[in-house]
Amino acid sequence: AMAAHADRMRETHSTTGHARLSRTLHALSCIVPCYNEAENLQRLLPLLQAQLAQVAERWEIVLVDDGSTDASAQFMAQWAQQDGVRVVQLSRNFGKEAALTAGLQAAAGDVVMMMDADMQHPLSLIETFVRHWCAGADVVYAVREHRDGESWFKRIGSGWFYGMVNRNSRFRVPPNAGDFRLMDRTVVQALLAMPERNRFMKGLYAWVGFEAVAVPYLPEQRAHGHSHFSKFQLFRLALDGLFAFTLWPLRTVIFLGCLMALAAFAYGAYLTGVYLVFGHQVSGWTTIVVSLMLFSGIQLVSLGVVGEYVGRIYEEAKRRPIFVVKRALGQGLRGES
Ligand code: UDP
Ligand code: MG
Repeated sequence: AMAAHADRMRETHSTTGHARLSRTLHALSCIVPCYNEAENLQRLLPLLQAQLAQVAERWEIVLVDDGSTDASAQFMAQWAQQDGVRVVQLSRNFGKEAALTAGLQAAAGDVVMMMDADMQHPLSLIETFVRHWCAGADVVYAVREHRDGESWFKRIGSGWFYGMVNRNSRFRVPPNAGDFRLMDRTVVQALLAMPERNRFMKGLYAWVGFEAVAVPYLPEQRAHGHSHFSKFQLFRLALDGLFAFTLWPLRTVIFLGCLMALAAFAYGAYLTGVYLVFGHQVSGWTTIVVSLMLFSGIQLVSLGVVGEYVGRIYEEAKRRPIFVVKRALGQGLRGES
């Protein structure tokens, strides 16, 4: 297999002069996580099949049914009878990140891509993805050109999130990039080798590194139904990312503690000075009440921050599987081998 792999790669020279790999795509897997997407799948699958057949000799669509409660399961079972369509049915809804991990585990291609089921990701980009991979990129990801259609909450929130998660970090989570991407087998293996239960994919992609190319795109409207991610869920996802990929909140707490201690010391010195110069004074009830409330507030927040990390240690320590597969259907890669 290694020899065959090496065969496919031949050295050429790009216009910039340095050696670049030029490789031919042999088997492409496309993972589609689905949670109640029967109507969307009906539109997506024929188009996706045609698109994949255009760019790869051998290809497969890996549909991950993330515990759908609509007709998705029956629909997928029908499609699984066709060559090149495989279905991994999870035992309940585990969330998109877990569904993607299930898809990555099931995918057999030497190149793996993923896209949403709701037609928001333009199929025409697949060709561009493949072109960049052929030119040597290990990862090709789509970046939303702007977030115009989104609420101020989402825009400001995501700005804050990327600012915080990328602070003093050796790896950078690119803003406005999601799960619409293509990855080489080596990258997929690196992702699968990461043992954590908390699968914050944007962080995992960034952590593994590799040479990545960004492709700008404009997301389409969701074809049918509505987004599964509410404001509250997005907020939770952002917290997951922050606590899983930075120690920044803990350091902030330490810094805050030092700052408070310094302030207390200065204020103490000041009060002593006042006492020595003007004699005894009993007043400052307001100061006491306000500072008591302020400091107990800060203490509770700090405890909460520490608690978040402890809770995550607890989650990881349980070593539960990331997802449970109820049933797998369908044949592997389609096309001549
Ligand atoms: N999804 C999933 N499990 C979930 C939630 C969503 O597999 O618990 C899938 C969903 O079916 C879709 C993709 O993840 O294919 C993106 O979901 P959605 O369109 O709701 O998210 P948005 O586009 O708003 O980020
Ligand atoms: Mg969507």
